[in-house]
Amino acid sequence: MYKSIRGVKDILPEEASSWQKIEDSARNIFFIYGYGQIRTPIIEEVNLFNRSLGSSSEIVQKQMFEIKRDKETLCLRPEATAAVVRAYIENSLDKKGGFAKFYYMGPMFRAERPQKGRLRQFHHIGAEAIGSLSSYLDVEVISLANRLLCDFGVAGFTIKLNSLGCVEDKKKLSQILKTKLKKRLTDLCADCQDRFNRNIFRVLDCKNQACRGIIEDLQLSSDYLCADCNQHFLQVKNGLIALGIDYKVESQLVRGLDYYTRTVFEITHPGLGSQDALGAGGRYDNLVKELGGPDLGAIGFAFGLERLMLAREKVAQRQVSKLVYIISLGEAATEQGLRLLEELRKNNIAADTDYTGKSLKAAMRAADDLAARFVLIIGEDELKKNVVTLKDMQSAEQKEINPENLIAELKC
Ligand code: AMP
Repeated sequence: MYKSIRGVKDILPEEASSWQKIEDSARNIFFIYGYGQIRTPIIEEVNLFNRSLGSSSEIVQKQMFEIKRDKETLCLRPEATAAVVRAYIENSLDKKGGFAKFYYMGPMFRAERPQKGRLRQFHHIGAEAIGSLSSYLDVEVISLANRLLCDFGVAGFTIKLNSLGCVEDKKKLSQILKTKLKKRLTDLCADCQDRFNRNIFRVLDCKNQACRGIIEDLQLSSDYLCADCNQHFLQVKNGLIALGIDYKVESQLVRGLDYYTRTVFEITHPGLGSQDALGAGGRYDNLVKELGGPDLGAIGFAFGLERLMLAREKVAQRQVSKLVYIISLGEAATEQGLRLLEELRKNNIAADTDYTGKSLKAAMRAADDLAARFVLIIGEDELKKNVVTLKDMQSAEQKEINPENLIAELKC
């Protein structure tokens, strides 16, 4: 009798129906947030991951399922971010407006030692937003992750947040870690002694009890952040506060992949045991360029579907509606726009906005391209009068309304 290999799972019909509920719920929410599906191949060139994740990352060093055929070395994808960026560049999406938001669901493969919550074939539900450096986009992406969890029926999770800063800041952080950890080098596990030289950030991800104690004693601050990165981090934190999303700044959160810069986050759940991460993500502002594309900022995250299944309590199904596109003109209007965006989405009204600093005219065009049913304009005048301008794109009718009446107005 044949058996499946270790670390993979058959999903039988009873369980598959719960998977479908999560997937349907995710599709719904991604639509509300304006993310379109992307399906990339399961096999890719191995160098795509070596280059993007970094040769000293755990995944590249130990977990790649490689396939050698003739002169090619392929692999089963261990994650999807690099593949989405490859597809974005290869399909010239940067030339079609530049900014794009994707979601994906599908199997990933890592040659790990199997244990609870740690498989060799597992599934990601993830999102990537490419083409903007705006801190408001970080807020959207984290609020999207938060919303997905709420809709999946997962409660009691913690959003851990940190900023690695730009490449220069990361070098400074690496130096700080070197100085601090050098004194404790011989107390670290053998793997971490090796990580100390190869990729010091990975020491902070070590699960070894002795290493954890040392890491928790490190007392890191965010002094290594330059003024711009500090400002970016502040805006992300303030944005999350404005949307009522709880988070915890965790200075030891660094993520062991080369491509991360600035905002990084991880979402954990106490019910999962030692493998307690439900999902994780962050900015990767240099990756598009690194893989041969233009110089564009980007951010994304992925949840592990199997772990969501373990943490979930109930699944809510909701109705979605027509798209509202918000155009905010100026910094103060952007904050107001962000709050209304969240409010609309909370009420299951599909809504989106611009993160690339478009003019009113260009933003109206973008709304048209997205076939938005309504456009909501917030400018200085509107702010002064405490109103928003709502334009019905079908009838071309336009009126000023009190933001508090917006949901009622759109629901009737
Ligand atoms: P990562 O790409 O490593 O940041 O992983 C994102 C999420 O995928 C994690 O938080 C887990 O929920 C899930 N995940 C990663 N590796 C595995 C694995 N080997 N088995 C099951 N789930 C995993």
